[in-house]
Amino acid sequence: MRVSRILQSKGGDVATVRPECPVMEVVAELRARDIGALVVVDADGALAGIVSERDVIRALAAQGPDLQSLAAADLMTTAVTTCEPQADVHHVMKLMTEGRFRHVPVVAHGRLAGIISIGDVVRARIDELERETEALQHYIAG
Ligand code: AMP
Repeated sequence: MRVSRILQSKGGDVATVRPECPVMEVVAELRARDIGALVVVDADGALAGIVSERDVIRALAAQGPDLQSLAAADLMTTAVTTCEPQADVHHVMKLMTEGRFRHVPVVAHGRLAGIISIGDVVRARIDELERETEALQHYIAG
């Protein structure tokens, strides 16, 4: 299954913040949207990084309460692995496994076009496997 197919059902909305967004607003946004990561974009909407709940935990462990003086830019990962809408879900799964992260922003023609989480990948694989099983059962039953 291609990433574009997943985006067709979940939509291409991406929760974003600016690099100067205070960490407490990052946390509030993650909580309000019930998600695990925010894509960081600059004033032109260009991808600047990604900040996930793990980055907040890391910063909290390193800084303690001083964490509150930080901004998204201080926490984010700037070397973001992205994929194209044409990418296959197996490829995205491999990126997540090898990179040890659970979110991959989708970029089309240089612009953010969506985000795939590990939950989306698992759901897509289960759907695929169920369809394959059904097809095999039909085949065996004649
Ligand atoms: P996650 O598993 O997505 O919560 O992220 C774990 C760590 O990987 C955090 O430090 C994130 O900033 C970073 N990260 C998340 N997604 C990506 C990505 N697509 N490319 C590079 N780093 C990422």
